[in-house]
Parts: sequence; C-alpha cells; structure tokens
Amino acid sequence: MTKLNELTIAEAARALRAREFTVQALWDACAAAAAARNPELNAFLEIFDADDAAIAAAQKRIDTDGSAAPLLCGIPLAMKDNILIEGKIASAGSRMLENYRATYDATVVKKLKEAGALFLGRTNMDEFAMGSSTEHSAYGPTKNPHDTHRVPGGSSGGSAAAVAAHLAIAALGSDTGGSIRQPAAHTGLVGLKPTYGAVSRSGLIAMGSSLDQIGPLAKTVEDARLLYEAIAGRDPLDATTIPAGLYPARSIPEKFRIGVPRHLLEKGVDADLRAAFDASLERLKDAGHTLIDIELPMSAYALAAYYVLMPAEVSTNLARLDGIRYGHAVRGETLLDDYLLSRTSGFGKETLRRILLGTFVLSSGYIDAYYYKADAARRVLRREYEKAFGKADIVAFPTTPSPAFALGEKSDPLSMYLEDIFTATANLTGMPALSVPMGFVERAGKQLPIGMHFTAPNQAEDTLFVLGTAVEKARGA
Ligand code: GLN
Repeated sequence: MTKLNELTIAEAARALRAREFTVQALWDACAAAAAARNPELNAFLEIFDADDAAIAAAQKRIDTDGSAAPLLCGIPLAMKDNILIEGKIASAGSRMLENYRATYDATVVKKLKEAGALFLGRTNMDEFAMGSSTEHSAYGPTKNPHDTHRVPGGSSGGSAAAVAAHLAIAALGSDTGGSIRQPAAHTGLVGLKPTYGAVSRSGLIAMGSSLDQIGPLAKTVEDARLLYEAIAGRDPLDATTIPAGLYPARSIPEKFRIGVPRHLLEKGVDADLRAAFDASLERLKDAGHTLIDIELPMSAYALAAYYVLMPAEVSTNLARLDGIRYGHAVRGETLLDDYLLSRTSGFGKETLRRILLGTFVLSSGYIDAYYYKADAARRVLRREYEKAFGKADIVAFPTTPSPAFALGEKSDPLSMYLEDIFTATANLTGMPALSVPMGFVERAGKQLPIGMHFTAPNQAEDTLFVLGTAVEKARGA
C-alpha cells in the first residue's frame, strides 16, 4: 500500500472519509517523513509542532459532516515562508525578517484554516522570492529530491521539494516571474500561477505587487485545482482581487487548438527537453487536439521588460525594511547610518542588486528610458497574447529551457535570469499559466523531471485544468 504521506489530496480525502486512517495518522506520516528527510533537503525552515486542537477539529468535522466536509479538511500542507500565518515566523528567506512573527493570517491561510487544512511548516525560498534556484536563501540552499546535487528551482524551491519528497501532501508558493511553475517543472509537480487578482495577496510579503500571485504546488492537476478553488476569490483586503466573471467567459472546447510559438524554441533550449516537448505535443495531437503555429514576436522582449519592472517594484516594496519599522536593526551614529547598516547587513547580495537596479530605473532621467518603455512593452505583449487567443485556445511551450541545474552552476546572475525566459510573460500579461510534468531527461544517471507550460486567457483556469488533465492522461499518469 502507498504510504500515507505519498497520497494526493483527493486520495487522502477519500480515504479519511472511508475511515481507512485518521487525520492524526496522516499528520504523523508527513511529520515523520519531514523530520527524517529535511536535514538533507532543507525544504522546511521550520517544521511546526502538531496543533492537536486543529487535528481533533478536522477529525470531528470529517466524522460528523462526512462527504460535506471540505476535501482539504485534515490535509497537511506546506507554506512558503513569505505567506503569513498568525503567530508564526515569516522570514521570506531573509535575515532581515529572521525573527518577524506574523500578527495576522494571510487571506489564503484564513481560507485554508476555515477548510480545516493543517500546516506542517514553512518552506525555504530565495530571499524575498528573488531567484530561480532557492540558493539565494539566507538559510542555505534547498536540494532537489530527484538529485540532491541539483537545485529544486525557485523561488518556491522549499515548497516544491517538500511535496516532491512526500513530506507534505501539497503546498502553496508565490509566483512573480515563474517561482511556482519553474520549481514545479524541476521537481515533477503541477504548478499554477493564477490570473492576476484571482487570489488575494493580503498577507503575502510583497516582491513585485503588479506581478505576484499565490498558487498551488501539487502532485496532480486535480489537487492543484482543489487548492486553487479553496484560496481564490474577491477579498476586501486586496483591492486588486477580481470578481468571478470579470473577463468574458469562454467555453471549454472538447478538443483544443494548441498554439505553439516554435520560433521561441529555436535557440537555447536543451535538445533532450525539446525532443520531450515535441513528443508531448504529438501525443496531444494523437488524442485529437490541433497544433497551430503561432508567432509571438514581442516575447523576445518579455524578459528584459520583466527585469526592469520587477526590480522597480522590489525597490519600492523593500523600502519599508529600514531597520526601524520591522525586523533586523543595526544602530549607528546617525539615522542614515541606521538605514545603511541595517539594510546592508540584513539583505543578501541578489536583493541588494535588485534594489539598486530598481532605484536606478525609477530615477529621474532614466524612468522614461527604462521603466516607461518596459511598461509599454508589457501592454504590447498583452495585446499580442489577446490576439493569439483568437486563433488558439491555449499557448504551449516548455516551462524551462533545461532540466534542473547543479547547485552553484548559475553563479552569474544573468544566466540565472534566463531561467525565467518562458515563465515571466504570464506575470507581465496577468494571464493564468500551468506547468504540468511532461516526462524526464537523464543526466549523470539520474532521471530529472521536466515540465510543459500552458498559458490561457484571463480567468480561464478551468481550461488549464482540463488540458492539464489531458496531458496527464496522454502520459498515462
Ligand atoms: N526567477 C524569477 C526572479 O528571480 C521569478 C521569481 C518569482 O517568481 N518570485 O525574479
């Protein structure tokens, strides 16, 4: 029999209702796996003590409500360290917030608590979600469970490793330029970046506010959907959240027109990964879907636009971490010293680089040359996708240009930024995007998972779930 910690949300929920095991047993299986494996993986920065009252309440709810209880009731989840859970530390992978305790629940946490979900711990991440490998954490890197010499991706690498190694049943991450989808691809999971505004950002430590979304990392599309549906919705605490039905509803086709921008894949994509992508497309074609060649010429500028707009937002969002209001503080002779000493000793190198870059592109004289240009590129990119969705129901490409890389391999920041080449566009356009496993490539005798990426029109998450499930089926998963 499958070990309890290896179950999906859907499987565990069914078995809990059938009384095959208890909530306590499920918790214990995950907690034991986490205790055993975390010293090696560094997926969790903190594993929480069992909340006996919450476990008992979840069990009681399943016993009394049976199938009427939410499916997430009694399910142990992992939370990225930038999502606030009242009373718990939320450090965003930074020294700056090492001892910062959340004074309220993020809206997503509140919703999950109401559904009866349990929180196993907080997971490692690149500092303030800046990175693609989880090597920029102030608390050491996380290892990929498929090959511990390799990174799990990032910035939600801790959440991805926790679920891929079966330490938690599923997890939440945050995605500003790919930080859910890229680690999902590198660890063999399903990862969703919802439509901008579909999920509340209240209680998410901000990175780039016009790009950030919280979303699920899960073992199956079905689980990703369950989690997404539990956390989505309008929230008075986040004015950027959108009501259901804001964008025109689209019917979900029986057979999809899948748009493939092949011109984007000509350079820089690993040959084995490219072959696996083509094979996945062929399988979808065999299942009756149509492949359409599309051109997205503005995509060539997406990464450049992202690396102007994102640091601009980072520099303003992180200005509040000044050694006075929150967290890490070093006192000097003058107030200016207080700022300088606190910020230079509290932030890591990558964070400082982005603050400097962001301050530069927003400064007088440069804002026109960089920030406004990038913002214009963003609008054109959005129009280009809207046009593509006239011809295609969905756009497909690989999630990443290559499989998981070795720890330390991308020490040059620009090579790390290139990891986001396929994912950042969905954050710039605001559109929902899903990464689904599409097989493995072999490196040094290890099987490394790779992912297929789909982008859909705004609020068409359902389309992603239906096609994602078709991909799982076509693979025989
Ligand atoms: N890798 C990207 C970056 O470093 C994306 C980060 C994210 O999505 N949080 O900015």
